[in-house]
Amino acid sequence: MDQKDTKSAEGPEGEPIPELLHSVYEERPFRTCTRCGESLSEFESGYRISKEFRKGEVVLEYAICHPCLERMLEESSVESKQNLARFHEVHFKGPLGFDQCAFCEKIKSAVRDDEYAIAGMCLGTRLMEQAMVCVECAEAMHAVLSEHTTRIWRRFREENFPGVPVDFEPFPGESLTHEKAL
Ligand SMILES: [Zn+2]
Ligand SMILES: [Zn+2]
Repeated sequence: MDQKDTKSAEGPEGEPIPELLHSVYEERPFRTCTRCGESLSEFESGYRISKEFRKGEVVLEYAICHPCLERMLEESSVESKQNLARFHEVHFKGPLGFDQCAFCEKIKSAVRDDEYAIAGMCLGTRLMEQAMVCVECAEAMHAVLSEHTTRIWRRFREENFPGVPVDFEPFPGESLTHEKAL
């Protein structure tokens, strides 16, 4: 009888952040931005969690608040920004979840060397969007970046290296430069 307002029954947007996006190193959900150290729940514009896997193991993980992400993209060269934008225009299929590459639709089990990155755009304790990028697409994207931009991201990885457990590979290499994947 009362069928108006079905929308009001909906819960909050998104879904709870799955364990897959928790910090392996801290053994709990990410709490602070890897770059600025501020509490992630404070950011109204949200934050992004990224994890890179190789042969089933996490080789790099970080959470970065939206303002920090913007700042790092701003520091990228004009050329890189244009190239990335073009790459997205041509290849980006949208965030297709954790099992399908956002750029080539390859499914996770078919990814070369079991190497891929996953990313989740989060807001508070909710996951709003999720994506996977296979190693080949990450390499293709990396190839369009300028030396300058590559250096910025390399520095970010090096400076935040303590976030990666020591028994993991010392440095994940640069094959997985999937930034701006979302
Ligand atoms: Zn930050
Ligand atoms: Zn791909």
